[in-house]
Amino acid sequence: MLQIEPIPAFSDNYIWLLYDDTGNGAWVVDPGDAQPVIDTLARKGLTLLGVIITHHHFDHVGGLETLCERYDCRVYGPQNPEIGAITDRLSAGDSAEVLGLRFDVIEVPGHTLDHIAYFHDGENPILLCGDTLFAGGCGRVFEGTAPMMHNSLQALAALPSSTRVYCAHEYTLANLAFASAVEPDNAALSERVAQAQETRSRNEATVPSTLALELATNPFLRCEVPELKAALRAQGKLQGETGDEVFATVRGWKDNF
Ligand SMILES: [Zn+2]
Repeated sequence: MLQIEPIPAFSDNYIWLLYDDTGNGAWVVDPGDAQPVIDTLARKGLTLLGVIITHHHFDHVGGLETLCERYDCRVYGPQNPEIGAITDRLSAGDSAEVLGLRFDVIEVPGHTLDHIAYFHDGENPILLCGDTLFAGGCGRVFEGTAPMMHNSLQALAALPSSTRVYCAHEYTLANLAFASAVEPDNAALSERVAQAQETRSRNEATVPSTLALELATNPFLRCEVPELKAALRAQGKLQGETGDEVFATVRGWKDNF
């Protein structure tokens, strides 16, 4: 059975470690730093078979060169020549095989233009989404436009609600504080805040979350939901009715929150 565990890196990154019961091979997602990966593999007696990259930011690819020198590994990643170590450059419609499981590639431009996500459909669907969808939030729009990012998030929102969402940062409490400002009367959100605070007080990861939870509490997936629009209107913040306009408003508010 597939195991997925977070390897903490830097101050708030998670490098996801994927391995199975056969116990001899592992993959990692977005290794911004090599050393925590090397240490974890050594502790577990695993070797690295491959790496999955979502986008070009340094805190996602910084450890790639060192890992590739040390292990003979395959590297899945986007069509971005800046990331030299990629062996399999992927676009929408392509798939990646990881430990016998198929992950379909979804292009999710917005945070960066090269950003891709990986989705495994099955009994327990898995989404590896880097800095696009976060627990309770979404990535900043650095290279794309607000409508582009909104469209990317809508594509992820359409996946099965049981999908477990593996994002690349522990930003959840800050994201939920913002979400609570946007929708102060969202009961599911209040409950999530309490649970996340308890989880963090034990120093545990709040991710993965599920898409069902994100749909109920993440303002960036709720831009077409009447309750969210009503909450914006009540605070004098609604600047337009379309999903793209609502997204741009909420994202702009978060950027200065
Ligand atoms: Zn990033």
